[in-house]
Amino acid sequence: MSDNRIRKVVIVGGGTAGWMTAAPLALKLGGRCEIALVESPEIGTVGVGEATLPTIRYFNLSLGLDDVDFIKKTQATFKLGIEFKDWGHVGNRFFHGFGDFGPPLEHRPAYMYWLRLSRTFKDMPSYEQWSIATVMARNNRFAPPHEEMPSVTDGYSFAYHFDAGLYAAYLRDYAMRRGVTRIEGMIDGVEQHPETGFITALKLRDGRRVEGDLFVDCSGFRGLLIEGVFKAGYDDWSDMLPCNSAQAVPCAKADQLTPYTISTAKSAGWTWRIPLQHRTGNGHVYCDAFTTDEQAGRVLMDGLDGEALAEPRQLRFTTGRRRKSWIKNCVAIGLASGFLEPLESTSINIIEVAVGWLVQYFPNRDCRPELADEFNRMITERYQFVRDFIVLHYKVTNRSDSEFWRYCANMSIPDTLRHQIELFRETGHVAIYDPQGFSASSYFSMLMGLGVVPKADDPLIDTMEFDQLLGHFASRREIIAQTVKAMPENGLYISRHCAAP
Ligand SMILES: Cc1cc2nc3c(=O)[nH]c(=O)nc-3n(C[C@H](O)[C@H](O)[C@H](O)COP(=O)(O)OP(=O)(O)OC[C@H]3O[C@@H](n4cnc5c(N)ncnc54)[C@H](O)[C@@H]3O)c2cc1C
Repeated sequence: MSDNRIRKVVIVGGGTAGWMTAAPLALKLGGRCEIALVESPEIGTVGVGEATLPTIRYFNLSLGLDDVDFIKKTQATFKLGIEFKDWGHVGNRFFHGFGDFGPPLEHRPAYMYWLRLSRTFKDMPSYEQWSIATVMARNNRFAPPHEEMPSVTDGYSFAYHFDAGLYAAYLRDYAMRRGVTRIEGMIDGVEQHPETGFITALKLRDGRRVEGDLFVDCSGFRGLLIEGVFKAGYDDWSDMLPCNSAQAVPCAKADQLTPYTISTAKSAGWTWRIPLQHRTGNGHVYCDAFTTDEQAGRVLMDGLDGEALAEPRQLRFTTGRRRKSWIKNCVAIGLASGFLEPLESTSINIIEVAVGWLVQYFPNRDCRPELADEFNRMITERYQFVRDFIVLHYKVTNRSDSEFWRYCANMSIPDTLRHQIELFRETGHVAIYDPQGFSASSYFSMLMGLGVVPKADDPLIDTMEFDQLLGHFASRREIIAQTVKAMPENGLYISRHCAAP
C-alpha cells in the first residue's frame, strides 16, 4: 500500500488563528510532516481579540505553556467574567461570572432554591452574592481556584485578557521552535488538481510557489481559500445580530487593574473595556444603520478612562459563518470560518475548538469527505449555539430609548433561542444544547440580569424547610465573603506573581 499520509500542511495567515493552529499542529504532528505558515505583513492582522473564555487555559496547558511566562510575555491580566452595564435597561448593572452559584442541592441547581426563597423573603440578597467569581470581581480580588482539591469556595474559573499581537508572537516562537517554517509573502493565486479540485500549491506575488497536501485557511475575513477558491457561501446573521462596525483604541492603563471585562450598552451598540498590564483596550461595536462612524467614535472616546494612546481603528464585519469550513483539502479556522461579534469573547474559543477537532479528525491525503462532513456538522452547531447566546443579550431588552434597541426587541430570533427564553421564563430551567458551551449558570446570569424572572418554582425543591434553606444560604454567603476578603487585591496578585517586565 502506498503511503497516503499528509506530507505537508500549509497554514495561510499569521494572525491569532494562524499561530493558534500552527502551535498545536507542531506539537501533535511532531515531525511527521512539514508545516509552513504564509503571512503577509503588507495585509497585517485584524489586531483585536483580547478577551477570552476559561477554555484558553486548557489550550495553553495542552501546549505545555508556563502560565507565568505566558502572562508576562503577553501583558495578560485575569478575567473572572463580564460586567454588563445598561443592558436590559439604562442604569442596569449585573455580572456574568465564570462559575456557579454554589454546589447543587439535592441534585437541583442552587439558584432554583434562591428563586424560591426570594419569592417569599423580599429582603433576600441578590443571587450574585452566591457567585464567588462575582463577589471577587466586585471586590477587585483575585486568587486562582484550588482546582486539584476543590473546596466549596472553588466553584469559579478564570480566563485572560491579553495583547493579541503578543499572543500571536508568543505562539509563533513556540511553533517555529518546533519546526514550523514561516514564509513572508503575498498569496495571489492557487494551483488546483485538474481532476479532484484539491489545492496543490499557493502562488505568491513574487513568483514563489508553496506546495502542500492540506491547506488551513486562517486568512481572516476574506477567506482567501474557503471562499475565494471554494465559494463556501456565507450565512449572514445580521438580521438578528445587526452590529457590523467597530472602532478600537488603546488608552493609558487605569490605577486599579480590574479582573473583568466591562461591556456597556450604548444607543446603537455597546463598548468594551479590557484592562491589560500595560494599557487598557477599548472598543465600540455598533450598527452603522443606526449611527454614524463619527458619532460612534465620539461615544468611544468620551468613555475612555485614560489618555488615548493611538487614533481609533475602524473595522467592518458581517456577523455569520461560512456554510462549510472544510471543503476538499482546505479547512478554514478563525475569521475565515465565521465571525460572531465579540460580546462574549467567543471567537478565540471557537478557534481552540476548531483546532482541537482538526487534530482529532486529522486526514490522510485523500481528505475523506466524511471527516469534512463531521467537522462541518460540529462547527455549525457550535456557531449556532454561540449565536443564540449572543442574540439573547440583545433580544431580551426593555430598552426602547433608541431605534437600535426597538429593532432588537422586535427582531425575529431562532426557535432554539425562543424555546430557551420561554422555558426559563415559565419554569426556571435552562436547555443545554451544547454541554461544552455556556452553562446553565451563564444562562441564569444573563436572563436574570436582563430581567427575566421565572414565573414558577421547580416542584421538586420544596422538600427543604425554609429555615434550613435560609441557614444554608446565609452560611454559604458568609463563607464566600470571608474567603474573598482573604484574597489579595487583583493588581497586587499580578505584581507579586506575574508582572510583565
Ligand atoms: C472588533 C473586534 C473585536 C474582537 N474582540 C475579540 C475578543 O475580545 N475575544 C475574542 O475571542 N475574539 C475577538 N475578536 C475576534 C478575533 O480578533 C479573531 O478571532 C482573531 O484575531 C483571529 O483572527 P484571524 O487570525 O482569523 O484573522 P487575521 O488577524 O485577520 O489574520 C489574517 C492573516 O491572514 C494573512 N493574509 C490574508 N490574506 C493574505 C494573502 N493574500 N497573502 C498572505 N497572507 C494573507 C494576513 O496577513 C494575516 O496574517 C474580535 C474581532 C473584532 C472584529
